[in-house]
Amino acid sequence: MSIAEVIEGARSAGRTVLTEVESKQVLEDAGLPIASTRLARDAAEAAKLAAEAGFPVVLKIVSPDITHKSDAGGVKVALASAEEVTAAYDEIVAAARRYDSDAKIEGVAVQKMAPQGTEVIIGMSKDPQFGPVLMFGLGGILVEVLKDVAFRIVPLEPKDAAAMVREIKGFPVLEGVRGQDPSDIAALEKLILQLSEFAEAHPEVDEIDLNPVFAYKDGCLAVDARIVVS
Ligand code: ADP
Ligand code: MG
Repeated sequence: MSIAEVIEGARSAGRTVLTEVESKQVLEDAGLPIASTRLARDAAEAAKLAAEAGFPVVLKIVSPDITHKSDAGGVKVALASAEEVTAAYDEIVAAARRYDSDAKIEGVAVQKMAPQGTEVIIGMSKDPQFGPVLMFGLGGILVEVLKDVAFRIVPLEPKDAAAMVREIKGFPVLEGVRGQDPSDIAALEKLILQLSEFAEAHPEVDEIDLNPVFAYKDGCLAVDARIVVS
């Protein structure tokens, strides 16, 4: 499915928010480093997709009515066998129903468990005056409490991506502190530029959240994605 088809499918279902599976498919097709994710509609299909992806896997609720999947008990990580996956499928769906009994549940997203990296957030939103704007910050408490983020107007040039990454107060974390591996800053800059190009090429996209992106010594990978279309 092309991006236009994915967006059209969501719109015809009356949605402007793409699911994690849809959002990741679109961004992966555009060449961004995204953890491949597939939709399972029942526990047996989840076990089959998990075996294809390779254990351990992560399972997450897929519902247009649930934005913060963890809050709904809708994320289970480090599932190491088909048995664990089938049990997790049922637990996730049950937790989601407890969280919101009216939520429409499409199924569960299955993806390979990525090694832990340094968590960063990369996003795009639209400013009424400046149009599409990219945001970069460290993940977790630093971005939520300290608002330690950098913004740039689309389109970005390589020097903008480089400056943006270096501008946050938490930049030393990416350079590697206390014996931690340094993050692949060039890979993060490349992802920022890819997102800028994607936003330019798709004016119908209003918002993108990659939260978190895991930054590694070599490369980076977005493990959660959310796209909002107009
Ligand atoms: P939400 O933000 O909707 O609660 P996420 O998809 O961000 O859900 O998942 C919650 C957390 O689970 C992430 O912040 C990350 O730490 C972990 N996680 C999610 N997907 C993966 C994955 N594929 N590999 C490893 N960890 C993951
Ligand atoms: Mg997330």
